[in-house]
Amino acid sequence: MIRCHESIVRRNVREEIRKAAEIICQAPKTVALTGAGISVESGIPDFRSVGGLWERFDPMEYGTIQAFLANPEKVWMMLHEMSALMKRAQPNPAHKGLARLQKMGKLHNIITQNIDNLHQESGATGVIEFHGNCRTLVCLSCGQRFEAEKIEDGVTPRCDCGAILKPDVVFFGEQIPSGILPQAYALVSSCHVLLVVGTSAEVTPANTIPYTAKMAKAEIVEINLMPTVLTKSLTDIFLQGKASEIVTELVREVQRIMSEGEVT
Ligand code: NAD
Repeated sequence: MIRCHESIVRRNVREEIRKAAEIICQAPKTVALTGAGISVESGIPDFRSVGGLWERFDPMEYGTIQAFLANPEKVWMMLHEMSALMKRAQPNPAHKGLARLQKMGKLHNIITQNIDNLHQESGATGVIEFHGNCRTLVCLSCGQRFEAEKIEDGVTPRCDCGAILKPDVVFFGEQIPSGILPQAYALVSSCHVLLVVGTSAEVTPANTIPYTAKMAKAEIVEINLMPTVLTKSLTDIFLQGKASEIVTELVREVQRIMSEGEVT
């Protein structure tokens, strides 16, 4: 009985994937906006994952710039654990599927809220990093940058000038790197489809991107394990499921439509 119900749900999702693939094939410009959910299957927990890093280190206690400035050694305890997870993580089929869609000429660009570098490692190009990248550390005192790979595990890293280094990522309470917000808005204001993958759309200002795209009349295709604040208000096609499975099927379907010449 349960299996029967699951197969019906699955069939419905498949039908929606087919519709999404058709609009992507027809669209002159598709852009993706990704969030922490796309990297969960690579072993990096999102803020909502149960039993992960964020249950022990509350993001609101450890992820704010105020917390870092007040007690960087304490925040570095969390950062060492997070970098260990990120160093081990490999791109999963969702990252690879988006990179493939880009190579096929059906995905113009990716805007990511993630700091894990996995889109670039999967072969995607021109990725717009909304919140920076954890592969670099920056000195808040003299501005020097360092490769995070070279830091010693468990030791709070310091700059040559003596100041404590910070990962080159946007903490809560910090500004988005200059130029990134206008670049992202310009991109989604001229896109025809916005593919929103694995984001709760609760972190500002990244969560204004889908609204900007919608105002420019883009179709919103959302992939998530569960409905979000966007699903009922903004999303045109909701594909519920694991990013790795849904993106893989979506790319396969786009490929099928293109090879059969169903859409020009
Ligand atoms: P979030 O944690 O607020 O939400 C993640 C979303 O992904 C949820 O809606 C969840 O249902 C969905 N999800 C979880 N697993 C999924 C899966 N396998 N397939 C599809 N969907 C899945 O993440 P957010 O909206 O990106 O906001 C959190 C902020 O924290 C971001 O700004 C990001 O910078 C940062 N962050 C980054 C990483 C990373 O770089 N990998 C990890 C954690 C947090």
